[in-house]
Amino acid sequence: MSVYVHIPFCRSKCHYCGFYSLASSTRKEAFLPALEREMELRTAYLGKTVPETLYLGGGTPSFLSIPELERVVSALHKHYAFPVGTERTLEANPEDLTPDRLGAWKALGFNRLSIGIQTFDDAVLKRIGRSHSAAQAIAGLEQVAAAGYENVSVDLILGLPGSASAHVWADLELLDRFPVSHLSVYMLGIDPGSVFEKQQAAGKLSLPAEEETVALFLHVSERLKERGFEHYEISNFARNQAYSRHNTRYWQQKPYLGLGPSAHSYDGASRQWNSSRLNTYIDSLNKGILIFEREELTCFDRYNEYVMTSLRTMWGAEWDVFKNTPGDIAPNQEERLAFYIENDWAKKEAGRFILTEAGWLVSDRIFSELFVVGDAASGGGKKE
Ligand code: SF4
Repeated sequence: MSVYVHIPFCRSKCHYCGFYSLASSTRKEAFLPALEREMELRTAYLGKTVPETLYLGGGTPSFLSIPELERVVSALHKHYAFPVGTERTLEANPEDLTPDRLGAWKALGFNRLSIGIQTFDDAVLKRIGRSHSAAQAIAGLEQVAAAGYENVSVDLILGLPGSASAHVWADLELLDRFPVSHLSVYMLGIDPGSVFEKQQAAGKLSLPAEEETVALFLHVSERLKERGFEHYEISNFARNQAYSRHNTRYWQQKPYLGLGPSAHSYDGASRQWNSSRLNTYIDSLNKGILIFEREELTCFDRYNEYVMTSLRTMWGAEWDVFKNTPGDIAPNQEERLAFYIENDWAKKEAGRFILTEAGWLVSDRIFSELFVVGDAASGGGKKE
């Protein structure tokens, strides 16, 4: 089992961001007791399983003061038994990477940092609404190295407005100076509800051409591989097998518990998601009531999720799942798989069907072609 905690506060709202977070911390005081109450009420969610990973995301968890973070961690320990060796990730923004915070996070047990750098170009950082500068990012990474963190992930985004390939090469050169073990490299998408969505609708957003960004992504991937990184998931690269254990468990459909507004949970049979309204979340938990929606997963949902999540990774999916789908819900799909292999979009290795990098770039098409539709009561179902 994995535990995710969503901290819904940010200093300001980045223009590309569609995650649930508020550019204000006025409700922090009220949020923390509600979160503690949720932890208490959810102790039974996954029975007796032991958490193997902990991830504090958001929002900006590093925006919490040290005493606030201590409070969250102490409540987590009160309600869940994290064994020695648990991967404990904290998402952090560069402006929070100060020696005292880094030392306190380590003392609280965080052994992995995920840092939202996005780019080291000040003009682009400003254009996308980030609250930090390139100098802060560099100084922050120096402090991370000095504090002795060994498992450090950095986020970069390609295809940002005002960005060109030269910026990205400069970003990679700079990152070479630091002991970064993991990189998440995203191609900009326009998230619903984001500032960019509004700017695009108003004709005020000018982005690099999509083909250029795709070509750049492939070049970045080559460059990272030359530097010893494995491209182990569509958007993720790791050195010395420093894979994100937490996210890998999502891709392997392992159960997880999500705490905090908008957080999702999964127990293998159903998925549930908390209210995305902070005030509703706080008011409800103050009355001792969990506030979430729930969906039972059908055999079709589970099959489709297996296809979509496992094929995102370099470990791929079991070939036989496409030959004899569980419950016989789809016809044999081997002909389709052979077509992908002929196009160099996939390969078959050790009984597994694995997408190549070229396949990942057309993965939306592949997923939709492999998905099955139907309802749980229809037995054999139908394939579309
Ligand atoms: S990208 Fe991160 S820091 Fe920026 S608004 Fe979204 S959650 Fe907050």
